Amino acid sequence: MPEFISSRTFAAGEEIFRIGERGRHAYFIESGSVEVSIPQNGDTVVIAELGKGEIFGEMSMIDDAPRSATVTAKVDTEVIEIQRSRFIQPLKSTDPMMDLLLRIILARFRDAQRQLSGIKLAPGEVDSSMEEVRALAIQRIHNEQDLRRGLDAGEFEMHYQPIVALIGGHIAGFEALMRWKKEGGYISPIEFIPLAETTGLIIELGRLALETGLKDQARFNADFAKVFPDLAPPFMSVNVSGLQLSELSEIELLVGIIKKSGAVPATVKLEITESLMMEDPDHAADALKILKALGVLIAIDDFGTGYSSLSYLHQFPIDTLKIDRAFVTNMDKSENTARIVRSIAQLALALEMDIVAEGIEEKEQMDALRELGCQYGQGYYMAKPLPAADILDLIGTRPSW
Ligand code: C2E
Ligand code: CA
Ligand code: CA
Repeated sequence: MPEFISSRTFAAGEEIFRIGERGRHAYFIESGSVEVSIPQNGDTVVIAELGKGEIFGEMSMIDDAPRSATVTAKVDTEVIEIQRSRFIQPLKSTDPMMDLLLRIILARFRDAQRQLSGIKLAPGEVDSSMEEVRALAIQRIHNEQDLRRGLDAGEFEMHYQPIVALIGGHIAGFEALMRWKKEGGYISPIEFIPLAETTGLIIELGRLALETGLKDQARFNADFAKVFPDLAPPFMSVNVSGLQLSELSEIELLVGIIKKSGAVPATVKLEITESLMMEDPDHAADALKILKALGVLIAIDDFGTGYSSLSYLHQFPIDTLKIDRAFVTNMDKSENTARIVRSIAQLALALEMDIVAEGIEEKEQMDALRELGCQYGQGYYMAKPLPAADILDLIGTRPSW
């Protein structure tokens, strides 16, 4: 049995927890019964009696507030104790709106309970729990509404970061990265992509990213062909969220956008994360099959940070592994990291995949990665993500690294 669940017996009359205490466990009654009581006008009033199969003590699990009642065993009572962490981790990882909803309901309930039992807050003692919850809820609702408004107002745009061939030093492709232009500045996708994912707005944002990315690719490649007539046209790499591949209709939509754009499919790369593959491998395989049939390339993003193994991944039609920035950053500090990068490069070669190393910030890192057998690199050392107009300027300078 996992350690966050254990069983325990309370003797008749024994107190299981007392009002005002911190709640560390919720309880499931295996046998016996308990009495729930609260103070009311100077007396102790029993408000509930619970028996086999019932759960109590769960409220403090959700908001970590002090116990709002006292619970005593009526007879010898066997319970299963469930630790707070067992509740909290899954709750936090679900839709944050669900988490909030539970907290709001709970805060309301506590409010009512307090009024019922005539508990008055001491002067100056403010009950902040409800206020905090309310503020959080309002903030989240506003953020969500703002995202929607920003989308309708056309505030989202794409920036592009060159991906460089480490042998030759020329531009081989671009990654399209989304930016939210607001109040004269740019908001990072790290701030808004998670909310876009939980609200489903990522579907629309993802569509925008692909459409805009492919439109700009045509402009880049026209200029590129003039400056570098002997080089292959750069690919365009676009991030795709799991939600965009969860339904067949959404995949068809992506296919439609690519077909309509007139882009050469073999120069279109879709970046997906490892977790997407691992969570539902059968579905991922089907989704990738449809995209591969179109002729586009597939990259695994942030490779090495998740749980996948190369032996597993080779069953999927993957063209590129993007080695996470953490490996590149740590390479010069740790001999082991360098070895890992080398093994990934060798295995990728054997499996006929290529490698993009992310987050190159120094020339030494670029040189080392070239030595280790990585074909492509991307990072601030070469160029930061730039607006389309700046990319056109950059191409004009015939850049080489
Ligand atoms: P990512 O796909 O791993 O993108 C690479 C991130 O690393 C980008 O952050 C890029 O600006 C940053 N980066 C590149 N080179 C360097 C470097 O040398 N040093 C450092 N410190 N950082 C570097 P960005 O643009 O803030 O994007 C963050 C994440 O947001 C992306 O990570 C991606 O997961 C997500 N994202 C961005 N655009 C989209 C999009 O259109 N759709 C979806 N679904 N996700 C997106
Ligand atoms: Ca990416
Ligand atoms: Ca990445």
